[in-house]
Amino acid sequence: MTAHQKLYEGKAKILYTTEEPEVLLTHFKDDATAFNAQKRGQIVGKGEMNCAIATHLFKLLEAQGIGTHFIDRPAPNEMLVKRVTILLVEVVVRNIAAGSLCQQTGLPLGKVLPTPLVEFYYKNDALGDPLLTRDRLLLLELAKPEQVEQLTQQALCINRILTDFFQQCNITLVDFKLEFGLTSSQQLILADEISPDTCRLWNQAETDPNRRVMDKDRFRRDLGNVEEAYQQVLERVLATKIS
Ligand code: 5GP
Repeated sequence: MTAHQKLYEGKAKILYTTEEPEVLLTHFKDDATAFNAQKRGQIVGKGEMNCAIATHLFKLLEAQGIGTHFIDRPAPNEMLVKRVTILLVEVVVRNIAAGSLCQQTGLPLGKVLPTPLVEFYYKNDALGDPLLTRDRLLLLELAKPEQVEQLTQQALCINRILTDFFQQCNITLVDFKLEFGLTSSQQLILADEISPDTCRLWNQAETDPNRRVMDKDRFRRDLGNVEEAYQQVLERVLATKIS
């Protein structure tokens, strides 16, 4: 299927229409941004690596009954996906305290949470993606009450599947961000990507808090060896079979 016109260009991906109205082509870029695009750079080979990792994880989730937008990977940095209307809500699941949770609550980095935490953020760059309460989410009509429940259950189910999978890779899934969309038949499915750009992943073979980081925090915090970390995630993910 060939790309027709550019529909949307985001920070990490470009979306094109195809000859099928319900099918879009996603091009994964090497561009990297952080802190609401205040920091910009390139991670060489990121497009291909993230596309391969996301493909494997979408196939894993589909095999476990989770509906995703994934259709096919026609080229190393291209993914064919179902056309959806993206909900303007970022769903974050946390297993271990890190990032904004530590900054906003004072919880120490690395504290294992008693149960996974599901949070909603407003997908709005101009406002800096603020944390939402359920009532604010409903007030802004970002989702219907039954969809909020569905998003929470889906996110927890995805967390169980991914946590088990990454455990087999000797990687700890600290936290991650999901985006969902509605198909033309109003089915709520997982969209966007799951990759080291959108997850915190810690190498279980390392105890040092900087050396263990295998995700975009290496770029955000100038820890170096960003490409090597993504490559390591890719190799371990691909070496772990989908059961
Ligand atoms: P935090 O709220 O601690 O900054 O992020 C929590 C998790 O969600 C991290 O794994 C982070 O990578 C992911 N995340 C949150 N917001 C975004 C976003 O706007 N873009 C990307 N790529 N990841 C995000």
